[in-house]
Amino acid sequence: MTENLLSVKDMKIYYPVSGRRLGKTEYVKAVDGVSFDVKTGEVFGIVGESGCGKSTLGRGICKLEEPTSGRLLLDGEDISAYNGRQMRPVRKKVQMVFQDPYASLNPRMSVFDIIAEPLIIHGLTKTKEERKDKVLELLRKVGLDDYHANRYPHEFSGGQRQRIGIARALAVEPRLVIADEPVSALDVSIQAQVLNLLNQLKKEFSLTYIFVAHDLSVVEHISDRVGVMYLGNFVEVGLKEKLYKNPLHPYTQALLSAVPVPDPEVKRKRMILEGSIPSALNPPAGCKFHTRCPKCMECCCITAPERYQADEDHYVYCHLYDDKINKEKQQNFNLIK
Ligand code: SF4
Repeated sequence: MTENLLSVKDMKIYYPVSGRRLGKTEYVKAVDGVSFDVKTGEVFGIVGESGCGKSTLGRGICKLEEPTSGRLLLDGEDISAYNGRQMRPVRKKVQMVFQDPYASLNPRMSVFDIIAEPLIIHGLTKTKEERKDKVLELLRKVGLDDYHANRYPHEFSGGQRQRIGIARALAVEPRLVIADEPVSALDVSIQAQVLNLLNQLKKEFSLTYIFVAHDLSVVEHISDRVGVMYLGNFVEVGLKEKLYKNPLHPYTQALLSAVPVPDPEVKRKRMILEGSIPSALNPPAGCKFHTRCPKCMECCCITAPERYQADEDHYVYCHLYDDKINKEKQQNFNLIK
């Protein structure tokens, strides 16, 4: 786990909206200048509330959404400006597992055809026999049986459908798999099975994952490093152990305080956030979290915080960790809340 498989640099994904104000086109800033690296062999978890831009970021990385700006380096290759034809060989390296196992499989195609399709598109099998062997092998790898190949998606449960989606993603032997909320549509009992399957396949196929989810417990279970997103930006990125044990950003602290702890001896102080996420069309100035932050200072409403390194492999975007704002000054700032 040393070299970076993926580097995302200042990625922005903006959507123009039809309404114009003062003659200017307005933009929904779904992803607003995100930078991070993913090392070969690691699982990078992206967590945040609905609408924070985490799924858009995942889709932007495999260019299912065209980024407005920013750079994307896969295995050292700059794919930022690649068109559809240039992206074809890259798509073999990056595959996606989608959130909704009911909508992501074509109901008119048999399971065999669904898994065989990427093999045909990328020319990975020469004969029908070879293709059949490969499809059946993939089905077995994801815990399904040979006879499932001739069935159609509607004949399967949600968990089984997600297994089919995983088999389809693995067919092209990708290096990076972006799993976008892969278990959120499943029953809790099935979630653990699919997470364990993903873990097992990661080892077997030497995969690297970007795992997108809103559930902090799920992300903790599978990730090596975690990035917490709020309104299109990361607010904290760190090794799982550090971020969950010692959350630094007030938003991460609030999210973690809401996670139930199974041990009755452990008492966590609940931190309740007021208000709802502001609109990505007109995000707050300064720190985007300042409208809900219980530790908001005057400077937070004016200046966006930079990235501060709290520890090795632990970064936070918050003025509380800015050495320039000395403690005395912080105390003298009028607390907004
Ligand atoms: Fe809260 Fe200010 Fe830190 Fe933003 S920068 S999280 S408003 S203390």
